[in-house]
Amino acid sequence: MNNSFLPFALPEIGPEETAEVVNTLETGWLTTGPKTKNFEENFSNFIGAKHALAVNSATAGLHLALEAIGIKEGDKVITTPYTFTTTAEVIRYLGADPIFVDIDAKTFNLDMEKLKSQCNSDFAKAIIPVHFAGQACDMDKILSISKQKNMNVIEDAAHALPTTYKGKMIGKMGDLTVYSFYVTKTITTGEGGMVVTNNDKYVDRIKTMRLHGISRDVFDRYRSSKPSWYYEVVAPGYKYNMTDIAASIGIHQLKKANLFQERRKSIAEKYTEAFDGLPIVTPYVARPDDIHSWHLYVIQLELDDLTITRDRFIELMADKNIGTSVHFIPLHIQPYWRDRYGFKPEDFPVAFEVYQRAVSLPIYPKMTGQDVERVVDAVTTILEKYSK
Ligand SMILES: *Cc1c(COP(=O)(O)O)cnc(C)c1O
Repeated sequence: MNNSFLPFALPEIGPEETAEVVNTLETGWLTTGPKTKNFEENFSNFIGAKHALAVNSATAGLHLALEAIGIKEGDKVITTPYTFTTTAEVIRYLGADPIFVDIDAKTFNLDMEKLKSQCNSDFAKAIIPVHFAGQACDMDKILSISKQKNMNVIEDAAHALPTTYKGKMIGKMGDLTVYSFYVTKTITTGEGGMVVTNNDKYVDRIKTMRLHGISRDVFDRYRSSKPSWYYEVVAPGYKYNMTDIAASIGIHQLKKANLFQERRKSIAEKYTEAFDGLPIVTPYVARPDDIHSWHLYVIQLELDDLTITRDRFIELMADKNIGTSVHFIPLHIQPYWRDRYGFKPEDFPVAFEVYQRAVSLPIYPKMTGQDVERVVDAVTTILEKYSK
């Protein structure tokens, strides 16, 4: 059996992506242009939302989304500590502060009871739910609380392409939804992101702010009847536009998004079946009829039944040449967030507990059946050997 290193994540790039990139290079239009426009149109159709605005990362997209709804210094924005630092750092970019709400022990998404009581004691302008691993948050409750409290909803959908909630595509419900095309995500452009919205009023602001606060993007300037050299700066904007090179990859990745999801789902099902009876908790699926993107497959070790720690388990997997990861190191124990707000680990007990037991296993379309078997064998062998 092939025993070479099995990475935790790998992109699946086909000849279509390569040919499109080469074509783009040959046309000479490398920055934002026709390929990016095309990718945006395909993306908004895929989601079924009115607007899709391409950016160079989800981080940029979340920053632009918060800026567009008017978040400013001193404001508060609710989010989860069980996420990548991006989700909270964009709040700080604008001088606002995150209010963390602990997660549900089964889904690792925001705990709705805790969210409700937090909203009763604190005034926040917005909420950023994260659809952890690609399983939708309880959007009915989030939307009802946000409506009641007059909060905007900006969804961090970095894991959630494609994901549905009660049959509805994620991206159609919140005020703004942001996707990531980072290399490990469900589809990739190397680096990239997309902001999706049904609300016209945010579109112009985001278009302007993603490119230096210039009111006409470069491509329009070269096509419009106004002189091509003329532009107006209306704000100190950012440099967040997507290149046509990246969009060339995205156009073809998007066409495969459903196929990729099916492959990840089938790996998840194989894992869950094979791990039955082992001292681990396999991922909980809240609504089996919905599409779960299966960006991540996170197991939780039953540490009381094992003679090894989570960290040792990861080393033993590495000894078998299998890459794993941990999602996430909760933000409230990271030095910056801990020290700024004086957090203790037990302030968000569920996030802290889950973190200590969590291991993410490889799950991506490029994995062969044999790769999946290798992971199953490794996990099974290690857990059986070190069970009490
Ligand atoms: C990856 C990730 C991001 C950041 O995406 P980038 O495109 O790298 O900026 C944001 N939120 C979550 C939950 C992520 O996993």
